[in-house]
Formats: sequence, C-alpha cells, structure tokens
Amino acid sequence: MHTRELYQQVILDHNRSPRNFRAIEGASGHAEGNNPLCGDTVTVDLTMDGETIVDVAFQGAGCAISTASASLMTELVKGTSKDEALSLFDRFRDLVTGTADAQVSEKLSMFASVKDYPTRVKCATLAWQTLKAALEGSQETITTE
Ligand code: ZN
Repeated sequence: MHTRELYQQVILDHNRSPRNFRAIEGASGHAEGNNPLCGDTVTVDLTMDGETIVDVAFQGAGCAISTASASLMTELVKGTSKDEALSLFDRFRDLVTGTADAQVSEKLSMFASVKDYPTRVKCATLAWQTLKAALEGSQETITTE
C-alpha cells in the first residue's frame, strides 16, 4: 500500500503535535469512538454555548490519519454552530469516500487521497463521527464496525 501519499505535510504535522489534545473539565458534551479495524480510539469533549461550539478537544490513540483528522477537526469546528459542524462532517465524508465533489477548505482537502484507501476512510471519519455523537448527546460508544 502506498501510504506515503497519504502522509502529506499537514497530516504529519497534526499527528506530531495534535491540536486541542486534552480533556475538558465540565464538558457539556462527551463521546467515545473506536475503530477496531485499525485500533484507533478517540474521545471528544466539547463545551456548548447555546448552539455554538465554544470549545472542543480530543484524546485517544491511533494511527497518523485518525490523529491528524481529529486534530484538524477540533480546529475547524471550534467557534462554529452545531449545524455548521455537522454540515462540515457531511462534506468531509463526501471527500474521503469520493462520493461527491466536496467543497472543503484547503486543509481538509489534504485528506482527499484517503478515498483511494477504503480501510483508511474509517480512520479519517472516526473523530467526526464521535463529534457528532457528542453534539447529539449520544451516550453510546461509537464504533466504525
Ligand atoms: Zn487508523
């Protein structure tokens, strides 16, 4: 597998120094996710003010793709509304599954090559699925299987 193409600079950078890698004390939303296929686990904490995500953070252990995706996700959804975050997730999923010509930011477009590696799609979307569960107040652990 030609993983080298996946490990572009942004992904490497976020994997090396993940942003918002911490727990949030007194978080208003929390969810856990895991991707047994690869062994990635992630927890997402967030603080809402009305419909706005004022803070979001993650913790967990996983491959470079899952960690970088989680890190980038926290950067992108912080300060957005719940609806904006869910819509961004839809576009990101379209991008990594190659189902639509997704309009995404330059940073997210770094993940476009994931669509050529179907087993990596779950790594890339795990943090977003977990974010969605945290936003929707789901108490269940999200699993990609
Ligand atoms: Zn993975």
